[in-house]
Amino acid sequence: MGRAVETIEGLAVLGTGTVGPLTVPLPGLLFAGGNLPSEPMERPVALRSGAAARPGERRLRLSQPEGRELAIDLPILAPEIAGGPGSFSRPATGVVALHWPIPPESWAEIQSTPTDLVLLGNGRTLWAEGAPFVRAVADVRRELGASPLLWSPRTALPHRLPLLAYLSVDLADTTLGLWRAAEGDFLDATLGLLDPSDSRREGRCRCAGCAEAPEPSLARHALAAYGDEMRLLRAALRAGRLRELVEIRQGAEPAVAEMLRHADRLLADRLEEGTSLLGQGIRSYILRESFRRPEAARFRRRFLERYRPPPSKQVLLLVPCSKTKPYRNSRSHRRFADAAAELPRAERIHTVSVTSPLGVVPRELEDLPPARQYDIPVTGDWDESEREAVVAGVAHLIREGAYRSVVVHLDPQEYGFLAPALEGPGRAVWTRSDERSTSPEALGSLREALATALAGLPGGAAAGPLQVVREELAALAAVQFGREGASALFGPDIRLHGRPWFQRITDGAGRDLATWQETRGLFQLTVAGADRMGSAFPLRVEVDPSVTLQGDLFTAGVRWADPAIRIGDAVVLTRQGEILAVGEASLPGPFMVGLRRGRAVEVRHRRHPSRAAAPTPT
Ligand SMILES: [Zn+2]
Repeated sequence: MGRAVETIEGLAVLGTGTVGPLTVPLPGLLFAGGNLPSEPMERPVALRSGAAARPGERRLRLSQPEGRELAIDLPILAPEIAGGPGSFSRPATGVVALHWPIPPESWAEIQSTPTDLVLLGNGRTLWAEGAPFVRAVADVRRELGASPLLWSPRTALPHRLPLLAYLSVDLADTTLGLWRAAEGDFLDATLGLLDPSDSRREGRCRCAGCAEAPEPSLARHALAAYGDEMRLLRAALRAGRLRELVEIRQGAEPAVAEMLRHADRLLADRLEEGTSLLGQGIRSYILRESFRRPEAARFRRRFLERYRPPPSKQVLLLVPCSKTKPYRNSRSHRRFADAAAELPRAERIHTVSVTSPLGVVPRELEDLPPARQYDIPVTGDWDESEREAVVAGVAHLIREGAYRSVVVHLDPQEYGFLAPALEGPGRAVWTRSDERSTSPEALGSLREALATALAGLPGGAAAGPLQVVREELAALAAVQFGREGASALFGPDIRLHGRPWFQRITDGAGRDLATWQETRGLFQLTVAGADRMGSAFPLRVEVDPSVTLQGDLFTAGVRWADPAIRIGDAVVLTRQGEILAVGEASLPGPFMVGLRRGRAVEVRHRRHPSRAAAPTPT
């Protein structure tokens, strides 16, 4: 049966996995030598190794307390547990043992039989080599999809568990940690391997192993450390904060930092695929690695690829971001707004915040995740990648926008690196000479610069504030749906309802097309909205003809799904090209197709039965 998904982040799955008679919580731990931790655990799995029936083979037994057992017979081949590089075997039904790299013809052969568990036989060696481990995982998922569980034996230490899960390793075992304990190491998920005498002297741990008399047990402590880290990992994954935990665990061992760098480079697309579009709580972006987080990279990329400034915005105003999110609610940003509030045609000002790790955030994108959900340390020091992102964002605005002038309300010392991007005859006016953006002098200078810029705009039949709001929503929709889809949705006859920041969009006939809420930041579509976008809307899930759509759509009913679909995306459900319903994706497109179990789409609106299908009156 493979994996059943409750939630995912990156390549990690929180859920359950079924292999033969065993059902285990994911991510899961296998307890080497049958040494179970002292505290009670949900469905623990003991891992024992012993003699197999055939000579030259070893039997791995995975067993659960209720007597369920899976036996895997592997050829003994020192120092790893099966075969040489490039080989594979099928040691049990639904199980494949691999020694990466696997030649293409072998992948084809492996694919011909259903797989529930992949055992990466040389995982430990690959891990020691760095990038090959990431390449191996990428190959396994590309060739065998999202469904099988992945186990890399003898690779896990407590502080490596979050990264292993993030790289889609579902099962970890305690073998390596027990070896380290036997060598005299004290395992610590935050600091890595410690000297036990130091830890003991400081009373570092309160686990049962450390309390053992007369001598504390390093082995029992190791089991407690695995258990604690696994519980933390599962909690972080459930909260959508696994990436943060992975970044924190780099402090325990350089190999974790190296592997994360390899993963961000080699697996960037896969990690982004498994990263939800929805925002959740506030996330800390503290370490340098947080700049590379998939949601931040996606925001920057979609901005450059899809975003265009509203055409009615003719004065670009660059301001610093604020700790308060959305920025417009912060004290400083309210003051910037007040400085311009009484000026005629103030709706022509385009306020854009400069920030890391997102680069630039125009006012109308302030609710688009993760713009509303991040927190960063602010010191005024920008590293090279941060500067590049800001410069690229500003250059994109100036290239795509219809600005007549630019007002820069940024500290010229700190943001001097932006000057070349703003070059042009008499264009940018810098309004600050000190560190404070809200000093009376700075605000006075801001007001004056904006008044001059607005007064210099050409006259004529200018579009009013309502037109500007409509353009802003269309610009936001373009980032979500792509420009083509957004132009179709925001075509003629569109009407906006509700106060600003809570929008309902209807067509000329009063039909609801889409809704938008600031706390969510993404549009939700109706069937009429999807009809209106037609082929300009790419995110389609084809429903299997045998399925009657009642309630939500599950993976078993998915015939095809656009691989570009991400969790939180508005999607249309179709059958032979006909739109049946619209909803919100619960899984990325490739998981909808690859998993045998789980909800694929939360259905929001179903098309009402057509007149043709209704009984004809006689
Ligand atoms: Zn302990």
